[in-house]
Amino acid sequence: MKHTLLLANIFFSLLSLHAQKDAEAVINSLDKKAAEYGNIAREIWHLAEMGYQEEQSAALLQSNLEQEGFRIKKGVAGIPTAFIAEYGSGSPVIAILGEYDALPGLSQEAVPMQKSAGKAAGHACGHHLFGTASMASAIAVKNWMVAKGIKGTIRYYGCPAEEGGSGKVYMVREGLFNDVDVALHWHPGSSNAASAGAALANKSAKFRFYGVSAHAAGAPDKGRSSLDGVEAMNMMVNMMREHIPQEARIHYVITDGGKAPNVVPNFAEVYYYARHYSRDVVIEIFDRIVKAAEGAAMGTGTTMDYEMIGGTHELLPNLTLQKVMHDNLSKIGGFNYSAEEIAFAEKISTSLGYTTLDKETALNVQPYKTTARASGSTDVGDVSFAVPTVGMRAATWVPGTPAHSWQAVAAGGTSIGNKGMMVAAKALSLTAIDLFEDPDLVKKAKEEFIKRRGADFKYIPLLGDRAPALDYRN
Ligand SMILES: [Zn+2]
Repeated sequence: MKHTLLLANIFFSLLSLHAQKDAEAVINSLDKKAAEYGNIAREIWHLAEMGYQEEQSAALLQSNLEQEGFRIKKGVAGIPTAFIAEYGSGSPVIAILGEYDALPGLSQEAVPMQKSAGKAAGHACGHHLFGTASMASAIAVKNWMVAKGIKGTIRYYGCPAEEGGSGKVYMVREGLFNDVDVALHWHPGSSNAASAGAALANKSAKFRFYGVSAHAAGAPDKGRSSLDGVEAMNMMVNMMREHIPQEARIHYVITDGGKAPNVVPNFAEVYYYARHYSRDVVIEIFDRIVKAAEGAAMGTGTTMDYEMIGGTHELLPNLTLQKVMHDNLSKIGGFNYSAEEIAFAEKISTSLGYTTLDKETALNVQPYKTTARASGSTDVGDVSFAVPTVGMRAATWVPGTPAHSWQAVAAGGTSIGNKGMMVAAKALSLTAIDLFEDPDLVKKAKEEFIKRRGADFKYIPLLGDRAPALDYRN
């Protein structure tokens, strides 16, 4: 009996030594290609294509995956820039999500002061790094599978229009994740962390008001202002803020308020978001926003309609997987800034109002937490209700940098972004390898997933049955 135990111990320590060697080989393979992947990320950063317009960014990722022997399915879920790249066959099926859309109005050069690159958009959420590191990881895992003769499927999901376009929701709705065992993702950030992150469910829509044009001085009585409709709606929604759960978020921009003050505008449009960590609350608030729009139209003698643009679920955590991701990220660790990067980061840090540069955060991994609070929304939420999903963040930005800022675009275009991205590529790869090697882990993750989602869960996309809003950035 003792003898068998001893043998078993030797066997397991050999096994872990084996696994350690595999991990080292995968990390080394990624290190060797870090410069190449940095160039790809930088190219997507330069392209800065907005949601559903990411033709060149998607094509670049596809051609790299194709060269590596992945089979590519383009234009999935009725979206020209959505794709799936697949290697291998059978189960398990491990998915790695990638994004590549930029944000309008945030063009910025890779310099530590605000300076537009003169483009319509900028990578202020770091999705150029997100898409590239996830691709790097899919390739590293594929090479490991080939070298070790591992059975199963590794898939890269090319997910467009995360920023407000809810690209993944259409991919989930289409059933593209139905045979996936586990989905992995990450996001650029200002620290390295693999805590169980929350996200806010959201619904967004463009409200359009239609009035009657007339000379604003000569015949105002003949006109009905569509802008009045928008303003009356906004006034009512702003009053409503006092009477909704305080964690809720509502924001809007007027995307069309007329063209000239001397013409009563016959068309105006306001683009709204409602968010909360519970999708049921979001649905309720959104219905009240619609009522405000209807009341505004009635009171201003205009008419209105609205178009759903986006809608995402909150994020369903999976602690079984999250702990594994955290352990792998901890093995990888963070990274050091070079002298040049310190000089850059100091200026960014000053621009954010800090007196000293925090050099520790990029170097370290944040302690594991299971109760991270929601701060934004992501369409990964819908994926997390379709399959067990796990994610992490890497310090691609200077500590303290908020997403959607010029500082995020700037750092994302430098070697700081690239170093952070490679931390993510490595942690995702090690986690994917764990999933291929440990069927029990996949089984446990699925059990937790079913339990958390609830036995009677039925997937109802928050954006309804609309076709992908391919023109929402036009
Ligand atoms: Zn993002």
